Amino acid sequence: MGGRAETSDNVITPHGDVVYRGDGLGNRVSVFPATCRSGEHQVGQEGYRAVEHGGLVVVSCVPCAAAHPDRPARHAWVLRVSGAPTRSAELDDLPYLRMVANAPFLPD
Ligand SMILES: [Zn+2]
Repeated sequence: MGGRAETSDNVITPHGDVVYRGDGLGNRVSVFPATCRSGEHQVGQEGYRAVEHGGLVVVSCVPCAAAHPDRPARHAWVLRVSGAPTRSAELDDLPYLRMVANAPFLPD
């Protein structure tokens, strides 16, 4: 683990930590950014995929991943997970405003 994930062509450094929240029924829910990393899409409308692996979750935007099928992780949020896996997720930009400001999208 150690917070880094190796891929074939680069090392992914997480942008931040997953924010968790309770859903009112006592269930833990993951919160992911509502805006994709490029800033162009609202993933709740455009669609997203969240793939967890090695202590990290990669939240990719469907249109961005389709535009960059060779290196989708470069166009996704990479967040550190903690605790038990959750069964559901919510989308909210508010907990991630600082991360978005500090991790500007770098086009290829
Ligand atoms: Zn996008």
